[in-house]
Amino acid sequence: MNSGSKIANCKIKEELEQVVIQLDGFPAIVFQFPDQQAPTLQTYDFAMWAILPIALRLGLTVRFHQPMSKKGLDSANNIAKVWQRWLPNFFSDVKLEASTTDPHKDLSAKALTFFSGGIDSTYSAHKIYNEHGRDSDSLTIHGMDYKFDDDSRFESLKEQTQTFRESIFGQSHFVKTNLYNVYSLIGCNPKGSHVTHIFAMFSCGSLFETYATYRIAADYRLDQQLEVHPWGSNTATNRLMRSGNGQLVTLDDDITRAEKANYLANSGLDLSSLSICVDHNIRPHNCGVCSKCIRTKAMFYATTGNIPTIFLDRDLSQNWHDSIHLKRKNERVFLSDIIETAIANGCYESFPGMKEAHLKLRAEQVKAARNPMYGTKPKQLFKELLPLRWRITFKRFQVRRGLADTL
Ligand SMILES: [Zn+2]
Repeated sequence: MNSGSKIANCKIKEELEQVVIQLDGFPAIVFQFPDQQAPTLQTYDFAMWAILPIALRLGLTVRFHQPMSKKGLDSANNIAKVWQRWLPNFFSDVKLEASTTDPHKDLSAKALTFFSGGIDSTYSAHKIYNEHGRDSDSLTIHGMDYKFDDDSRFESLKEQTQTFRESIFGQSHFVKTNLYNVYSLIGCNPKGSHVTHIFAMFSCGSLFETYATYRIAADYRLDQQLEVHPWGSNTATNRLMRSGNGQLVTLDDDITRAEKANYLANSGLDLSSLSICVDHNIRPHNCGVCSKCIRTKAMFYATTGNIPTIFLDRDLSQNWHDSIHLKRKNERVFLSDIIETAIANGCYESFPGMKEAHLKLRAEQVKAARNPMYGTKPKQLFKELLPLRWRITFKRFQVRRGLADTL
């Protein structure tokens, strides 16, 4: 695509309980702090990380009116080049322009850990706590797994994870942002992949400028990351992401999620803090019948021979694998993990429906290897091809009809 020639100005407005990014021609992007005052900012690196997927998608030159750290500015421009190179048909060249200033002098002795309440972040937080003690604060973001408007369910998540957080972390931070809504409006995720989550997370983390280390649990083992590429949070680009004083560090990219589930099941931890479910009406509880709950039940069963009581429905039927979307490469990776774990634990033969699941997986793997477009939804292709102003008009129509959330 063309080099970034469209120029957009970006200003940041600081208020007592929120910080607002104003990017020319786009809805305001808000970051709210329901439980604390907005942090005092010295550099504004968080805004670069928030804007970057938008700039990449639209090929923008962004002129920031507030200063950035030199390290953060170089890092963001570097990361932009990597993603443009990885996805040249989806992302364009970008340029981020800003004056630079020195980052905060006051450094926290603690790290800041991204914590969602899922298996990956719970595993990594518990393991590093056992090794190093309480050396980290936590950050949980409202506006990603939980919709921006859904305050009550996010409050329930905070309650559900409170005991775990208080036993493992120092301070718990929470940030509420509509950033995902803006990404969705513009269509910043390519077909079959999710890229934006790492930008939303690192942006929210960078609002807390005194940390030198930001910890994130790996979504996949390193070899699995190659299978699901391109995927937003990955060891390769995470290790290049810096802001002000801070560096993003990926934890535990050397084990699979089934191994993490096994660790947690045998850790003696109260697993009732775990929030796995993707059903917006049930979260933070775990329905046991949505695709992710079923996949996780199978994962626990393969690795421990049991299904924990955290699921409202604990059955594992013969056809459990029907709910796993095998046209998605990330789902195929998780099913492979379950099958390999069942084989290693000697329960492959007795596992309900396992042979059928294995045959289906092999067939889907071959189809996907033959056809790179395999599994792409027409809706996703439509969104990618539609010019931005049409997408915005369509989104406004959906909002008016009550078919989509407001921005
Ligand atoms: Zn569920």
